[in-house]
Amino acid sequence: MEPTAIIRKTPADWRVAPNFSDYGAERARFDWNAVAASLTGPMGVNIGWAATDRWLATKKAERVAFRFLAAGQPPKEMTYAELARQSNRFANLLRQLGCAPGTVVFVLAERIPELFVSVLGSLKCGCVASPLFSAFGPEPIATRINLGRGKVLVTTDLLYGRKVAGWREAMPTLQHVLLVAAEGGQTAVPGTHDFASLMAAASDAPVAGVTAAEDLALLHFTSGTTGTPKGAMHVHAAMLTHWATGYYALDLHPDDIFWCTADPGWVTGTSYGIIAPLLHGVTSLVDREEFDAERWYGILQDQGVTVWYTAPTAIRMLMKAGAELAQRYRFPALRFIASVGEPLNPEAVWWGKEVFGLPIHDNWWQTETGGIMIANTPAFDIKPGSMGRPLPGVEATIVKRNEEDDVSVIDTPDVEGELALKAGWPSMFRGYLNNEERYRKCFAGPNHEWYLTGDLAKRDADGYFWFVGRLDDVIKSAGHLIGPFEVESALMEHPAVAEAGVIGKPDPVVGEMVKAFVSLKKGWEDSEALRRELLAHARKRLGAAVAPKEIAVLASLPRTRSGKIMRRLLKARELGLPEGDTSTLEGGA
Ligand code: AMP
Repeated sequence: MEPTAIIRKTPADWRVAPNFSDYGAERARFDWNAVAASLTGPMGVNIGWAATDRWLATKKAERVAFRFLAAGQPPKEMTYAELARQSNRFANLLRQLGCAPGTVVFVLAERIPELFVSVLGSLKCGCVASPLFSAFGPEPIATRINLGRGKVLVTTDLLYGRKVAGWREAMPTLQHVLLVAAEGGQTAVPGTHDFASLMAAASDAPVAGVTAAEDLALLHFTSGTTGTPKGAMHVHAAMLTHWATGYYALDLHPDDIFWCTADPGWVTGTSYGIIAPLLHGVTSLVDREEFDAERWYGILQDQGVTVWYTAPTAIRMLMKAGAELAQRYRFPALRFIASVGEPLNPEAVWWGKEVFGLPIHDNWWQTETGGIMIANTPAFDIKPGSMGRPLPGVEATIVKRNEEDDVSVIDTPDVEGELALKAGWPSMFRGYLNNEERYRKCFAGPNHEWYLTGDLAKRDADGYFWFVGRLDDVIKSAGHLIGPFEVESALMEHPAVAEAGVIGKPDPVVGEMVKAFVSLKKGWEDSEALRRELLAHARKRLGAAVAPKEIAVLASLPRTRSGKIMRRLLKARELGLPEGDTSTLEGGA
C-alpha cells in the first residue's frame, strides 16, 4: 500500500462500461436543458412524478424500486408501479387535509416504507417535504418544525409518544399529525390521524396539478457554527442534478442494485437514498438497522449490491473491525463504491482496493449544493485523498475573500483558499428559510456569481480538488495555516490509529498549538511510548511546523449523528468551556 500513489483507471478495471470515459469531452458537451427535457412530463417539473409515474408505461413499472430490510423480518419489496400508486394516495390525502402547494410536510420516521411514500407523495402534491432524522430529540425536532412552519407531520406512534406528544403545544403551526403504527395495524392516539386508514380511504389516481422548475420541493436543515439551524430551500429542478450525478458520480446503470447507507433525515439520504436512484429506475436497498460490520458485509454480499454509496465513518468502522471479518464474505456483484460527507483518508481508498478489489471514490458536496459537485468517477484516475474533479455542468474554483462581496480567483495550483462554485446549477439552494441576509452573504464576485462554500481547499495542476478543512476549523500556528484534515490524515496512516480529530489550542507563543485526539484500533493499548511514537510519526510526515505538539488517546471521538468528528466539542472539552449545542452528538439526546 502506497498512500501517495495514483490509482490508474484502465478499461480492465470496469466490470461494465462506465457511463462516460472522456472527462473533458463530456464536460464540453454537457447541457442541463437536455436533462430537463427527459424528466419533464404531465405534472410539469415534478420530482415525485419523474421518480415514479414516469416509469409506468415502461418495463420498469414492475421492477423493484425499494427493497426494505429489517433484522428478523423477510425483505419487503415495492415496485415502481406500487410506489407510484402509494405516493398518489398520499398526495390525494394531503389535498383532502387542505394542504396547498407550498405547505411544509415533515416526516420523522426510521427508514420505513411510509417515509419514502410520504416524501414522494408530498412532492406530487406540490408540498415541500422535510425529512427529519429519527434520532433527533424533542428539542431539535420542535425547533425545525417551528422554523419550517410545518403544518403536517408524518411519524410513528412510538416516536410520537417519545418525542412529539409532550411538545405539541410548542408547535403551534402543526395541524395534522399522521401516525404509522410501528407494529402494523392502526393507531388511535388523541389529536392524531391514523396513517394507514387515511391512505386506505384515499384515491390512488394521479393528483391534479403541475409544479414548475422553480417551485419549492425540499427543505433540509443544516447546522451553522452559531445560531439556530439554517433551512436550505431546494426546488423541483434540483432533480436535474440528482439525475446527472447519479449518472456521472455514481455511474448508475439500469440494472443496478444500489445501496445508499445515509438516512433520509440527512440530505444525502434524500438526494441519493430516494431521488437519484428512482430517476434512474434502479433497485435501492433500504436497511432499517444501524451500522454493524457483519450485517453490512452480509448485505453487500447477499443482496448482490452493485453500487454502494457510503460514508468515511462507516468505512473506518469496517476497517476497525479487521480484515479477517471482510475475508469471510465475497462481493462478486459489487462494481463501484463512493463515499461522501467528510474527508476520506487515502488509507480508506486503498483499503477498498484490498477488501473489495475496488477503490473508494470520494466525492464532495453539502446541504446547500443539493447534490454532488466534485467527484472521483470511473472515468479518471484517483489521487487518493483528493475529492476528485467538478462534474459536468459544475464549475468550481478556489477564491480568496477580499472585502465583503468581493473575491479574487486563485489560478495558481496548490494554493489554499475557499472552495467556490459558479452559481446556477439546478440543485443550488434557493435561500435559507427566513434568512435572506445570510443567503446573500454566501455569494460574491461580479453579479454574485460565486457561491462560497465555507470550505478551505486547493486545486492541483491536474484540476483535482483537495479538501483542507472547514474555514472555521482552520488552525493558525506560528503564522502557518494548518488544515486539521492534513494532520488527521497523517495520524491515520499510523497502524494504531482508528480515528483522529485535531484542534487548535490557544498558545501564548504561537497563537494556536496543534493538539490531536485519537482513538486506537483493536489490539492497541494506550501508553506514553505509543503517544510519543505517534507524535514522532506525525512530525516525520508533516514537518515540525504542522505536526501536533500534544496528543491524547480517547476511547472514541465525539461525532455528529451524520458522522463528522466534532472538533468544536473536543476543543470545548479541552479548554473546559461550555459544550454548546450538542443536539447532533452521536449517542446524545
Ligand atoms: P453537510 O451540509 O452536512 O452535508 O456538510 C457539508 C460539509 O461536509 C462540506 O461543506 C464539507 O465541509 C464536508 N464534506 C462533505 N463531503 C466531503 C468530502 N468528500 N471531503 C471532505 N469534506 C467533505
